Amino acid sequence: MNSNAKASVITIGDELLIGQTIDTNSAWIAQRLNALGIDLVHRIAVGDNVPDITHALDAELERSHIVIVTGGLGPTADDITKPLLLQYFGGTMRIDERVLEHVRNIFSRRNRPMLERNLKQAEVPDSCEVLFNERGTAPGMLFRRNGRMVISLPGVPYEMMGIMEQEALPRITATYGNEVAIVHHTIVTAGEGESFVAEAIADIENALPAHIKLAYLPGAGMVKLRLTGKGHQQQLLQDQIATFAAALTQRLGHLVVSQTDEPMEYAIARWCATHNATFALAESCTGGLLSHLFTQIPSISHHFVGGVVCYTEDAKVRTAGVNPETLATYGAVSEEVACQMAEGIRAILGAQYALAVTGFLGPATGTENQPIGTVWIAVDGPQGTIARKHRFYYDRQRNKEMDASMALLLLWRYMNGTIVAA
Ligand code: AMP
Ligand code: MG
Repeated sequence: MNSNAKASVITIGDELLIGQTIDTNSAWIAQRLNALGIDLVHRIAVGDNVPDITHALDAELERSHIVIVTGGLGPTADDITKPLLLQYFGGTMRIDERVLEHVRNIFSRRNRPMLERNLKQAEVPDSCEVLFNERGTAPGMLFRRNGRMVISLPGVPYEMMGIMEQEALPRITATYGNEVAIVHHTIVTAGEGESFVAEAIADIENALPAHIKLAYLPGAGMVKLRLTGKGHQQQLLQDQIATFAAALTQRLGHLVVSQTDEPMEYAIARWCATHNATFALAESCTGGLLSHLFTQIPSISHHFVGGVVCYTEDAKVRTAGVNPETLATYGAVSEEVACQMAEGIRAILGAQYALAVTGFLGPATGTENQPIGTVWIAVDGPQGTIARKHRFYYDRQRNKEMDASMALLLLWRYMNGTIVAA
């Protein structure tokens, strides 16, 4: 048993180095290892070539007990990881019957002829443990040497994750099962920047013992505070983290929006599930982004009734029941119109709550009173209608994200009763 196993990740692929593909594999692997109390100490991306991959393996095996490699396992000529690992760890290629059967099944199910190169996917070095890939044709491989392990996985994230969960993580735990507990607690705050938050909690932060760390993670309109503790006594650690989390929460007061690290739309969905609530959306400048975010959540149909993207003034009248006179008097980006959109869509769709967003994204619209970047957000519900204005100075896309983010926040606060109608 090794109580403090270290790990490295090597991602392979020219596409990662030219920026064509974003390396999401490393981040996902890091999270999973972290949850097991294993420190990811190094990450490296290398191209599809033998010298760089070999060099990376040498270096990471020096440093870490567990080296996880992703990529380069496909059936094409640019995929060189398997022969390279055979060379590196020795042995000969053999056909794995279970993998062969699986590859055959995949092709017959898809009604595609199987090529010689696909058969090759069932070949594995006899020096490795095969990590079965239920989600694809290329199996993963685990090699052991001097108490260390190299785990090779396909680059396709969906397949990589499947093999990690089902095959690799159980073997990692069996070999390096952790005695060190890691406890995280995240407090989500909104309304002030990280400098302000840091000032407000400076004395609490300074009083943290060495084994508890505080990280600031600024995001769209929010700052997350993550407490991380490491220790040998899980329960003690949990108690300590809870004590500090409570102190931070009390100090930050109304800035605290959640004690769970999850996207705001998930927090809203959970609230709706607990309160058996429904909501509707009327989106102008966010163009369906809010609907998209909510529809990412499984079973949201119990709560999200529906929404409209009412982009033009006419659409606001026809689909969200906005009064044309209100539009003529106050303009499309106004408190009055935002409120009517929320009230209108709530009534039309018969939802308990409604959220509406109307704003100028830029660069070409805007008026003197309501310049580019202005957004009005309104919530309507059993406690009446409330609206808030924000102004953002980013580009179109970022403004849109900020608008959506602030809209979710307003709905969340309304539901929790931390913001009330006048
Ligand atoms: P490969 O196993 O090298 O054939 O990778 C197959 C595909 O997986 C690549 O074309 C990429 O789109 C994707 N991929 C590879 N490495 C990564 C990574 N580190 N993060 C996210 N996607 C990846
Ligand atoms: Mg590749």
